[in-house]
Amino acid sequence: MLNQFLNALFPESCPVCREPSTDHKTAPICPECWRSIQPYSGPQCWKCGVPLVSDKSITCGECIKDEPAYKLAGSFGLYEGALRKAINLLKYQNIKRLSKPLSDIILRMQIPRVDAILPVPLYKKRLRQREFNQSALLAKYMAKSIGISLVIDCLIKIRDTAPQVGLSSGERHKNVRKAFGIQNKRLITGKSILLIDDVITTGATVRECSGVLKKAGAEDIYVIALAHGTRN
Ligand SMILES: [Zn+2]
Ligand SMILES: [Zn+2]
Repeated sequence: MLNQFLNALFPESCPVCREPSTDHKTAPICPECWRSIQPYSGPQCWKCGVPLVSDKSITCGECIKDEPAYKLAGSFGLYEGALRKAINLLKYQNIKRLSKPLSDIILRMQIPRVDAILPVPLYKKRLRQREFNQSALLAKYMAKSIGISLVIDCLIKIRDTAPQVGLSSGERHKNVRKAFGIQNKRLITGKSILLIDDVITTGATVRECSGVLKKAGAEDIYVIALAHGTRN
């Protein structure tokens, strides 16, 4: 409330280009920078969507080694530039109003036909600290726009995990192992599911979630994220 009031009095500057930005929908990111958010069109793994250096789309080493439980995973763009800024403003600066235009960005992708949309959950304690789950907000707007039911009380995070940032691929997988659980199983048994995350980096989190969902009887699982970070 106070923020909105202050924004109206003192127009913000766009954190990407530093020009003044008063646009209410994507503020503080200006319309020009918002338009610079474009889909990734380079080579990627056909299964998990990870951007590849190779000149054609193939199956990445990780997917060959250990096939994910989901059918397909994909993300809109690369975790860089205005998209990265927008995600971070939503996630760490609590600029919730960005979740609507960001969900519209995801909807520019081809969305598989599914029975239910589920967000990647946060652990209770984190949810209290952060006040909201950014992936759940994205999933909520998407569900509303395309008329699919949002299921938030099924896939849950059952233990806290260290932030994935700064961990190696192997450490990330280990970090999220057995971190998710299922309640109200009937909500997903025999159903096709779309799992929503904000950023996929190594894919460890969505792999783990998909495994748990599959084990609980979910039929086909698809994963969509806003952005793909690069593995290192
Ligand atoms: Zn700008
Ligand atoms: Zn892959």
